[in-house]
Amino acid sequence: MKEESCIFCKIANGEIPSETLYEEEGYRVILDLGPATRGHALILPKDHYASLYELPDEKCGEVLRLAKKMAVRMTDRLGCSGFNLVQNNGESAGQTVRHFHMHLIPRYDGDGQEIGWKPGKPEQEELKEIRKTICG
Ligand code: 5GP
Ligand code: ZN
Repeated sequence: MKEESCIFCKIANGEIPSETLYEEEGYRVILDLGPATRGHALILPKDHYASLYELPDEKCGEVLRLAKKMAVRMTDRLGCSGFNLVQNNGESAGQTVRHFHMHLIPRYDGDGQEIGWKPGKPEQEELKEIRKTICG
């Protein structure tokens, strides 16, 4: 299902043009308009799912299979030396477009990008408490 007001629905379904790297029945892979590095691309499902939480289980495997296929091809063609898969869910996590997408970010030695986090230093007790919260 598409959502009328969603720009990624329109791009994924070809109603708005994009630099498409690959297309198959349920997906389109496009170049990002604000790339982190040369070749930064996005996997878009053609159906609308706002985020990972809404993505049906069977699509999760499809997205990762497609990410690997694209990473192999892009690494070969672009000559990048590393690759980040990034997938943001919710505003606090940096999601700006509420249509599930996975970032494919080729990395080059000295490309100057920082994709990461500042590591914390939790006490063992805190880790225990978190584990209980998640698993208990
Ligand atoms: P998010 O922050 O939601 O994980 O990522 C959204 C991404 O979509 C950003 O990297 C942004 O540059 C890209 N983007 C936003 N609007 C468009 C668009 O209209 N076309 C393309 N190709 N990329 C877009
Ligand atoms: Zn959409």
